[in-house]
Amino acid sequence: MIENIDLKIGMHVVMRKKHACGENDWLIIRYGADVKLECYKCKRQIMMERPKFLRNVKKILDNEKG
Ligand SMILES: [Zn+2]
Repeated sequence: MIENIDLKIGMHVVMRKKHACGENDWLIIRYGADVKLECYKCKRQIMMERPKFLRNVKKILDNEKG
Protein backbone atom coordinates (compact mmCIF):
# COMPACT_ATOMS: atom_id res chain seq x y z
CA MET A 1 0.00 0.00 0.00
CA ILE A 2 1.09 3.48 -0.86
CA GLU A 3 0.07 4.65 2.63
CA ASN A 4 3.07 2.90 4.12
CA ILE A 5 5.50 4.87 2.02
CA ASP A 6 7.14 7.84 3.64
CA LEU A 7 5.83 10.61 1.47
CA LYS A 8 7.23 14.05 1.95
CA ILE A 9 7.65 17.50 0.51
CA GLY A 10 9.73 17.59 -2.63
CA MET A 11 8.63 14.20 -3.90
CA HIS A 12 7.47 13.78 -7.45
CA VAL A 13 4.28 11.74 -7.89
CA VAL A 14 2.20 10.53 -10.80
CA MET A 15 -1.56 10.73 -10.29
CA ARG A 16 -4.22 8.50 -11.85
CA LYS A 17 -6.20 11.47 -13.05
CA LYS A 18 -4.72 13.97 -15.45
CA HIS A 19 -4.75 17.66 -14.74
CA ALA A 20 -6.76 19.96 -16.99
CA CYS A 21 -3.54 20.84 -18.84
CA GLY A 22 -2.91 17.17 -19.71
CA GLU A 23 -0.10 16.57 -17.25
CA ASN A 24 -0.29 13.98 -14.48
CA ASP A 25 3.04 14.56 -12.80
CA TRP A 26 2.96 16.56 -9.58
CA LEU A 27 5.33 17.86 -6.96
CA ILE A 28 4.34 17.60 -3.28
CA ILE A 29 4.67 21.02 -1.72
CA ARG A 30 2.75 20.40 1.49
CA TYR A 31 2.07 17.14 3.23
CA GLY A 32 -0.24 17.01 6.22
CA ALA A 33 -3.93 16.31 6.77
CA ASP A 34 -4.25 18.04 3.44
CA VAL A 35 -1.81 17.62 0.62
CA LYS A 36 -0.81 20.44 -1.68
CA LEU A 37 0.47 19.60 -5.12
CA GLU A 38 2.00 21.63 -7.89
CA CYS A 39 1.52 20.60 -11.50
CA TYR A 40 4.84 20.06 -13.27
CA LYS A 41 3.62 21.50 -16.51
CA CYS A 42 1.43 24.51 -15.73
CA LYS A 43 2.66 25.11 -12.14
CA ARG A 44 -0.88 25.44 -10.85
CA GLN A 45 -1.44 24.25 -7.30
CA ILE A 46 -4.20 22.08 -5.92
CA MET A 47 -5.07 20.92 -2.44
CA MET A 48 -6.78 17.69 -1.45
CA GLU A 49 -7.39 15.63 1.65
CA ARG A 50 -4.70 13.07 2.30
CA PRO A 51 -6.96 9.98 1.96
CA LYS A 52 -8.11 11.22 -1.42
CA PHE A 53 -4.54 11.91 -2.45
CA LEU A 54 -3.43 8.41 -1.41
CA ARG A 55 -6.22 6.83 -3.42
CA ASN A 56 -5.20 8.79 -6.48
CA VAL A 57 -1.45 8.27 -6.46
CA LYS A 58 -0.35 5.95 -9.22
CA LYS A 59 3.40 6.08 -8.86
CA ILE A 60 6.01 7.76 -6.72
CA LEU A 61 9.07 9.10 -8.46
CA ASP A 62 11.28 10.40 -5.74
CA ASN A 63 13.63 12.42 -7.86
CA GLU A 64 14.93 14.44 -4.92
CA LYS A 65 17.35 11.67 -4.05
CA GLY A 66 19.09 12.10 -7.38
ZN1 LIG B 1 -1.36 21.37 -15.05
